[in-house]
Amino acid sequence: MAEYRAPTRDMLFVLNEVLDDQRIRDLPGYDDYEPETVSAVLDEAARFASDVLSPLNWSGDREGVHWSEDGIVAAEGFGAAYSQYVEGGWNGLTGSADHGGMGMPRVLGAAAMEMWNAANMSFALCPLLTASAVEALENHGNDELKQTYLDKLVTGEWTGCMDLTEPQAGSDLAQVRTKAQPDGDAYRLFGQKIYITWGEHDMADNIIHFVLARLPDAPAGVKGISLFLVPKFILDENGQPGERNDMRCASVEHKLGIHACPTCTMSFGEDGKGALGYLVGEENKGLAHMFTMMNAARHAMGVQGLGIADRAYQRALEYARDRQQGGRAIVEHADVKRMLLSMRAQTDVLRAMCLDSASALDIAERSDNEEERAAAQARADVMIPVVKAWGTELGVDIANTGIQVHGGMGFVEETGAAQYLRDARIAPIYEGTNGIQAIDLVGRKLIRDEGRGMRALIADIRATADGSAEGANEHPALSDALELLETATDTLLEAGRDAAMANAFNYLMLCGTVFGGWYAARIADVAKNALDNGTDESDFYEARQACARFYVHQILPKARGYAAMIQAGPAVVDSVDAQRHL
Ligand SMILES: Cc1cc2nc3c(=O)[nH]c(=O)nc-3n(C[C@H](O)[C@H](O)[C@H](O)COP(=O)(O)OP(=O)(O)OC[C@H]3O[C@@H](n4cnc5c(N)ncnc54)[C@H](O)[C@@H]3O)c2cc1C
Repeated sequence: MAEYRAPTRDMLFVLNEVLDDQRIRDLPGYDDYEPETVSAVLDEAARFASDVLSPLNWSGDREGVHWSEDGIVAAEGFGAAYSQYVEGGWNGLTGSADHGGMGMPRVLGAAAMEMWNAANMSFALCPLLTASAVEALENHGNDELKQTYLDKLVTGEWTGCMDLTEPQAGSDLAQVRTKAQPDGDAYRLFGQKIYITWGEHDMADNIIHFVLARLPDAPAGVKGISLFLVPKFILDENGQPGERNDMRCASVEHKLGIHACPTCTMSFGEDGKGALGYLVGEENKGLAHMFTMMNAARHAMGVQGLGIADRAYQRALEYARDRQQGGRAIVEHADVKRMLLSMRAQTDVLRAMCLDSASALDIAERSDNEEERAAAQARADVMIPVVKAWGTELGVDIANTGIQVHGGMGFVEETGAAQYLRDARIAPIYEGTNGIQAIDLVGRKLIRDEGRGMRALIADIRATADGSAEGANEHPALSDALELLETATDTLLEAGRDAAMANAFNYLMLCGTVFGGWYAARIADVAKNALDNGTDESDFYEARQACARFYVHQILPKARGYAAMIQAGPAVVDSVDAQRHL
C-alpha cells in the first residue's frame, strides 16, 4: 500500500517564509517554540505518521471495528499505535504544561494534525475529539473536575468524546431531549445519542463523554441545554476507573468511510439508575459553552480536508509516474499534469490557510496586547467557517481527482485512492454541515458584524494585491478576483438576511477561492525572491512558483462563477416553491 511522506519541507516553508512565525515566538509562554524545536517536532511527527499510523490505514479500512454487548474492540494494531502515540507525548503537544502537555502553539499542533489525518484519518479522529474535550473542561469545568480529569485527557491516557447529536437533533440542537436528573452533587442521565465518534473502544482505560442534556425544569430550545461530563467508568476513591457507568454502546454504524473509527449509538440510563454525570459550566449554558470550543474543532476539520488532500495527491503522483500509456508515463500527458497540478496547487494554499488561521487563534489567545488579540479573534472568526467548509470541500474534490488520475485503478479498492474519497466525504457533514458553516459565515460573521471583520481581511488582501511584487506577478489576477469579493460582500450586506442565505454557500466558496488566491500570490512572491537570490533549492521553489501560478490562473477564475451566481442567486432560489416544485 502507498507510503505516506509527511511534507515537512512544505510546512516549514509556510511557517517560516510565507507566514511570520516570529509573531508566534514573540507571544508570552511560547519561549520554547524555537525554529530548531519546530523542525525536530515535525521530523519526529513525520516518522510516527509514516511508520506507525500510515501502515494501519488500509488494514483498518478493511477490518473495521468489532462491536459486542461488552463494548468495541478497535481494529488490529490501533490500540498499540494509540499507546505509542500517548507515550510519545503527541496527545499533549499543545496541551497546557501544567497538566502534562508540551505547551506548544496551535499552529504547530495543526501541522502535526495534518500528518495524523493524512496518515490515518480514522485514528486521528480519536485525539481530535479528546482535544475538544480538553478545551471544554479547561474553559468551563470547575477546579475539582479539572483536577480529576484534565491531566489524563491532556496526556491521552483517557480519551474524550462529544455527545451532541440525537435522532431528532442534528443541525438543530434545540431539539436535544436527553435528560439529566439532579442526584446530590451530581446528575443521572437518561437518553440516547447517535453518531458518537470513538464513543466506545478498548484503546484507553477510560472514555470521558461530554454530553448535552436537559435539566427537569429547563426552558425549551437552546437556552435549556446543559453540558455534562460522563465517564465510562466511575472513578473509585483513588481516582482510578472503577464501576462501569450506566451507559453503553448500543450499536455501531456501517458507513461509507472512516471504517476504523467507531461511530456509536450511546444509550444512557438503560439499567434504570441513570448514567452518573457532572455539570460542566453553568446550568442551561451548555450550548454557549460548546461555542467557545467550536473554532478549534471546526479548524481541525479543515485540517482533515488538507491531510486527506495531500495523501490523495501523493498517491496519484506516484501512480502517474509509474503508469505508462501512449509511450510515456501518464504524468507527462498534459491533462494528467493539469489534474496533479490542481491537486497540489490547492493543497499548497489550503495548508497556508490552515496554518495562518491557527496562528490567528494563537495570537487571539496569547497576545498581551488587547487590540492585537481582538483583531486576531475577528480574523479567526471570519476565516474558520471558510477553513472548515472550503477545506473539506477541497478534500473531497482533490480525493476525487486522485481517482481520476488512476483511471480504472482508481475505482479499484486496492490502490487506496478510493479510500481517501470515502474517508474525506464525512468532513463536509460533521462538526456543522458546510451549509451550516455558510450560514455562520454570512449570518454571524458578516451581517451581525456589519462586515467589519470581513472588510479588515479584504483590506489585508488588497495590500498584497496592490503591493509592488517584484516580478512573480500574480497580483493583477488577485486584484480582479478581490474586486468580485468586495462587490459580493456589499451585495450580501445590502440584500437582507433571507436573500443573503440563498447565497451563503456560494459566498463561502467565493471567499475560499479568493483567500486561496491571496496565499498563492504570497507563495509566488516568496518563491520568486528565493530564486532571484540564488537559492540552492531551486527545484523546490520553482515547484512552489509553478503551483501558485496554476492556482491563480486555473483555480482563482472560479471566483467569477461564484460571483455571477451570487448576483443571480436569490431571485432564482426564491422563484422555486419548495413544497410544489421539488
Ligand atoms: C461519521 C459521523 C461522525 C459523527 N460524529 C459525531 C460526534 O462525535 N458527536 C456528535 O454529537 N455528532 C456527531 N456526528 C453528527 C453530525 O455532527 C451530524 O450528522 C451533523 O451535524 C448533521 O446533522 P444531521 O445528520 O441530523 O443532518 P440534518 O441536520 O438533518 O441536515 C440535513 C441537511 O439539511 C441541511 N440543514 C439542516 N438545517 C438547516 C438550516 N437551518 N439551514 C440550512 N440547511 C440546513 C444540512 O446542511 C444538511 O444538508 C457525526 C456524524 C457522522 C455521520
